[in-house]
Amino acid sequence: MSNLNRRAFLKTSVLGAAGAFVANRLTGAEKITPVGREMQKGKVIKRQLGNTDIELPIVSYGVMEAKNPSLIKAAMETGFQHFDTAHVYQRGNNEKMLGKVLKEYPRKSFTIATKVPPEEKDRETGHLKSGTTKKAFLDKLDISLERLQMDYVDILYVHSISARQAALYEPILDALKTAKKQGKARYIGLSTHKNEPEVIQAAIDSGVYEVILTAYNFKQDHRDQMNKMIAKAADAGIGIVGMKSMAGGSLGKDADKPVDFKAALKWVLNNPNVHTTIPGIINFEHLRQNFSVMEHLELTPEEERFLSMASAEKGLYCNGCETCKAECRKNLPIPEMMRAYMYAYGYREMKKAKQVLQEHDIRDNPCSDCSICTARCVKGFDVPSKLADISRISKMPDDFLV
Ligand code: SF4
Ligand code: SF4
Repeated sequence: MSNLNRRAFLKTSVLGAAGAFVANRLTGAEKITPVGREMQKGKVIKRQLGNTDIELPIVSYGVMEAKNPSLIKAAMETGFQHFDTAHVYQRGNNEKMLGKVLKEYPRKSFTIATKVPPEEKDRETGHLKSGTTKKAFLDKLDISLERLQMDYVDILYVHSISARQAALYEPILDALKTAKKQGKARYIGLSTHKNEPEVIQAAIDSGVYEVILTAYNFKQDHRDQMNKMIAKAADAGIGIVGMKSMAGGSLGKDADKPVDFKAALKWVLNNPNVHTTIPGIINFEHLRQNFSVMEHLELTPEEERFLSMASAEKGLYCNGCETCKAECRKNLPIPEMMRAYMYAYGYREMKKAKQVLQEHDIRDNPCSDCSICTARCVKGFDVPSKLADISRISKMPDDFLV
């Protein structure tokens, strides 16, 4: 980022509380294009992904929940260029669907990113277990490539890192470097949606990661810290891809308070250190609306009002800070259960919510035999009532869930 951009962004990003919700609005200086490495081609704003040779529209396609191949085709025709999937999405069917569609296009006309999970993580600490091996990781990458019908991916992430130790775990770093050396990945990175500042610092320190996919949104209580860490990583030449821009998708449990997703997305992208984002797109209306954000980032007065109003709401977005977990008598995986809650009520993705609960062996209400709750949420969530609510989904048959 140019000094001018950096000064302008820092000046706005350090504003306090309510001001912070409109703080990512571009200043007059930043709106001039091209600025630094940002340029507007036709109507679409593009940014260089760190020190890579990849230049991307500022809005990319999070394919995770997409099932309709026609949507991918329409995205390609519309001007989307970067598609983000993962080894585990839809049990591999997401990569298969994407591969089937994209093989109809010249390989260099799109950028594909996938995420491969490390073999096993300790649920308590987020650290990789000592059994995690380079071979297991590379075997999974081969499966992903086969599903995608590709020889290589443009970006290979190690999926969902939440601790410094995991980011620096030697067998995985070695696996990533090997994948790159073998030509199976052009660039290597990590994804993180918990404890992000620590993970980003570790990624910088490693000297290995070239791209970071991180949760980043206007509802993060630690967004000032995120702004600083994202700037530091971008200054180190690391490409920054934003995710979880929608901050939970809704401000309340009922569907009557949806997050204004254009406002939320613009808030993220008005940080010029974020090179692109991967909002989930599951229908043609999403596609059209997301594309419109590629063309201009100025917040409308209504969008500014929404961001200010939303600042006063608790919302559904859990920071993953683990304060509550440390205080819980049973050391329950509260942040993960809150994530399931967000999937269920914010995004109406019940199956995904159930999957998260299953991954953490939640079968019943884990708080039912606990008389006094000691787990305090920094955002003021009523922890036991949310846990009781979401744990019911674990008993619902899949046929009744969407
Ligand atoms: S009520 Fe639930 S969340 Fe609270 S301390 Fe007890 S087990 Fe933990
Ligand atoms: S304290 Fe609140 S915000 Fe932090 S992890 Fe727990 S539920 Fe999430």
